[in-house]
Amino acid sequence: MLEWTGKIMHDLLENFVSRINIAYFSMEIAIRPEMQTYSGGLGILAGDTVRSCADLEIPVIFVTLISRAGYFRQEIDAEKGQIEHPDWWDPTVLCAPLDAMVALRIEQRPVWIRPWLYIHTSPHGHKTPVLLLDSDLDQNDPADRELTHYLYGDGEAYRLKQELILGLGGIRLLQALGFYLHTYHLNEGHAAFLTLDLLNRYRFPPEDVRPGEPIYDVAEVRERCVFTTHTPVEAGHDRFSYDLFEKLVPDLVDVGELKRVAGADSLNMTQLALSLAGYTNGVARRHAETTRLMFPGFRVHAITNGVHVGLWAHPAFARLFCSYWPHWIHEPEILVRALQLSDQEVSECHRAAKAGFSDMVRALTGVSLDPNIATLGFARRMTGYKRPLLLFSDVERLTAIASKQPIQIVLAGKAHPKDEEGKQAIRRLLQLTQELHGRVTCAFLPNYDMRIAQAMISGVDVWVNTPQPPMEASGTSGMKAALNGVINLSVLDGWWVEACVEGVTGWAIGGEDDAGSADRHAGLLYEKLERVVLPLFYAERSQWCAMMKQSIGNIAYYFNSQRMMRRYASEAYLR
Ligand SMILES: *Cc1c(COP(=O)(O)O)cnc(C)c1O
Repeated sequence: MLEWTGKIMHDLLENFVSRINIAYFSMEIAIRPEMQTYSGGLGILAGDTVRSCADLEIPVIFVTLISRAGYFRQEIDAEKGQIEHPDWWDPTVLCAPLDAMVALRIEQRPVWIRPWLYIHTSPHGHKTPVLLLDSDLDQNDPADRELTHYLYGDGEAYRLKQELILGLGGIRLLQALGFYLHTYHLNEGHAAFLTLDLLNRYRFPPEDVRPGEPIYDVAEVRERCVFTTHTPVEAGHDRFSYDLFEKLVPDLVDVGELKRVAGADSLNMTQLALSLAGYTNGVARRHAETTRLMFPGFRVHAITNGVHVGLWAHPAFARLFCSYWPHWIHEPEILVRALQLSDQEVSECHRAAKAGFSDMVRALTGVSLDPNIATLGFARRMTGYKRPLLLFSDVERLTAIASKQPIQIVLAGKAHPKDEEGKQAIRRLLQLTQELHGRVTCAFLPNYDMRIAQAMISGVDVWVNTPQPPMEASGTSGMKAALNGVINLSVLDGWWVEACVEGVTGWAIGGEDDAGSADRHAGLLYEKLERVVLPLFYAERSQWCAMMKQSIGNIAYYFNSQRMMRRYASEAYLR
């Protein structure tokens, strides 16, 4: 890409400008493993959205921050737990700087923003552009040069400035580049400031506005905005003080009007997005219901998340699927025919995935896994509501179960640097791995990221998830597991409420609408492991194989990002 000359770049951009009419904004996008522009599920979803838009030729341009220092690289120390390092990556290798800049006025000085262009190309050659916004420019004050370095960096002012850059910087750059867009898709509330620029574009003529009446034509803005919310709890929403907002951007909008749409006491980014988007989506049915209760009066749709099957199928499974159904990536619905696959084919693919994963575990931790032992995987953001310690609530019971029917457990996950509870959980998990030595083989893999996720969701036998309902908005790692014939054992929350058919596609821990305590859910988890999961694994191989195929045929055929994006295109973009 470095070879791009001015002429090639000009033609490429011209082509994008002429056919693209939708912009998708996300604070993080997992574009590819070498680019540290994501932290977890939200970014993975955005990345899978890029891949599906390219496959389906949906005319979308993506906007995110360059995040040169990434989220963080996690080092694991047996005593200290998680140690965080900046995770620098070099944009010049895969992206090209565009010859365009805009300035925002923040704290009375201009902050210049320049985009880098990354182009994702589908297997059929369709190109989908991603703009990565960068404030690290000579023109800027030294402090402002760091604003796009650290994904979810520390401090309210830093976050507010980042969100101003994403929303306002992004929409103004698109305008400067000549894009004419009819839809702006806000992936989570972080990008909601773009609506403020739209409010200014759609002001009523001053002579028509009588005192006390609205000055902005909100209906025009709503027509252009689509919002996907990912946060099922009040405390999870980004909020800023109006004092800070007015200090940073005093002249941006009429704050009295802003309070009407974003909350009277503090600037709530979710409420701003809900008020100004004409189409709001929750990421699973259960999550849409929770959002309606949290924000009464808003219509919330439910297009359930999906994963990109081309990225998340292990190469062995991808080859197998391709041999049966050459068009399976474009139309993963065809996986509904997974019962056509033979037990032997599915087992061989799984064995290859498990062997590759074992190599990774050994290389990263020195722990050797036994390919014949039932292997449980648990990897996700380490934070309170995901209850990473639940599986270990009763170590005696766990070891008693494993003494008759052996288990191995592989763990991974980062905790946000400010999340003390999450970091404490990592330290405890590391202690447990040592305590259990000789009884249950456990390994904690450092620096959970896309690459580790790929190996892990395909290389274990059972994928465990134990969130506190209703806190798991959707969850997507279980979808990736199912695609690879790895069977889900999970609390009924988020997407699993829709996907679980007990004993057919996987197993539930607890019932629906069951906000169970950790102890109760742990008891149910142990019981199911001991009486159902492990006996099937060790004594009923053909039944196990049948469930692997049912995971593929009854889950992966539906919970994929091609289905998700066809629905967004027809229901949200074409309103
Ligand atoms: C898929 C994925 C996630 C999201 O998993 P959840 O089940 O939603 O927690 C997070 N991080 C990485 C690296 C992933 O690949």
